[in-house]
Amino acid sequence: MFNKQKTHDKLLELVKAENIKPEEDLRNHLYTKLGGKADFFITPTTYEEIQKVVKFSNEEDIPFTLLGNGSNLIIKDGGIRGIVINLKHLDDISTEENTLVAQSGARIIDASLFAMQQRLSGLEFACGIPGTVGGALYMNAGAYGGEIKDVLDYAYVVDKNGDIVKRLATELDLDYRTSNIPDNGDIVIEATFNLKPAKYEDIKAVVDDLTYKRESKQPLEYPSCGSVFKRPPGYFAGKLIQDSRLQGTNIGGAEVSTKHAGFIINKDNATTTDYISLIEHVQQTVKDKFGVELEREVRIIGEDKE
Ligand SMILES: Cc1cc2nc3c(=O)[nH]c(=O)nc-3n(C[C@H](O)[C@H](O)[C@H](O)COP(=O)(O)OP(=O)(O)OC[C@H]3O[C@@H](n4cnc5c(N)ncnc54)[C@H](O)[C@@H]3O)c2cc1C
Repeated sequence: MFNKQKTHDKLLELVKAENIKPEEDLRNHLYTKLGGKADFFITPTTYEEIQKVVKFSNEEDIPFTLLGNGSNLIIKDGGIRGIVINLKHLDDISTEENTLVAQSGARIIDASLFAMQQRLSGLEFACGIPGTVGGALYMNAGAYGGEIKDVLDYAYVVDKNGDIVKRLATELDLDYRTSNIPDNGDIVIEATFNLKPAKYEDIKAVVDDLTYKRESKQPLEYPSCGSVFKRPPGYFAGKLIQDSRLQGTNIGGAEVSTKHAGFIINKDNATTTDYISLIEHVQQTVKDKFGVELEREVRIIGEDKE
């Protein structure tokens, strides 16, 4: 167990005081509105600050966890020990000719809309994905036939030694909702995308169509983590759940959405324990009925409540 006072004192040397929050309630930072507290929640404003924090946590053996927009994460009710790093202050987006450069704390929705304003096509698929650029690279986010892999040229990361390293898209093992970013222990800090010039009206027509599809099919009025499960080969997770008559099933305040079977919503003050129990119930029911294993897309991290 690390010394919290010593850690706080050291963090004050590395990151501005107003960007360090001890005992931060993580429910405020997660789409599901679930989860316990972080020992330290920090929001660096420069790449150098991130490097210093990584080096410090290596030296002192203090765990750190990256938190993007919290839209693909479930954090257990006991919260997260050590340092949680959130890059919300690093959110610049710019374009030069046909490339778009985004810092990893920018929302991928904003990168998509900025590309449209600059009349650049390729990021339309991401116009409704509520994560950050860093979170989108981490899991090769995708929708409606597009994915990060199609447009990413390269990224800069802070590696596990605290050094800034360039990684080509081809080096990231981007595949269906996965990459090697967690295996390498990289923190994505910036991404460069290759886009194509197009007419504003054409890009907007695609964005409007995808927005309509998303709003009419997804229970966006409730906290959730999006699709809970990956698409099993040869099946659709939502259809298997629907055919298992699980829609509307609830445990505590968590419920399998009646609007989109692939979503589990926090309907009424659910705890993480409710949420995880419901995920496991869905997995077991689908396995018993169809013999198909549903693999989680959403990540579950943190400590159980004592
Ligand atoms: C309503 C709704 C709809 C959704 N629709 C889609 C969809 O259509 N397609 C899709 O692919 N996903 C979808 N998602 C899931 C989610 O938005 C994506 O997975 C998104 O990419 C997660 O980004 P995030 O910033 O929220 O990451 P978080 O949930 O905060 O974190 C996810 C993982 O990424 C890691 N991470 C975050 N930032 C970094 C970084 N800078 N460097 C290294 N690791 C990092 C975290 O440590 C964590 O392990 C949806 C979610 C919701 C709630």
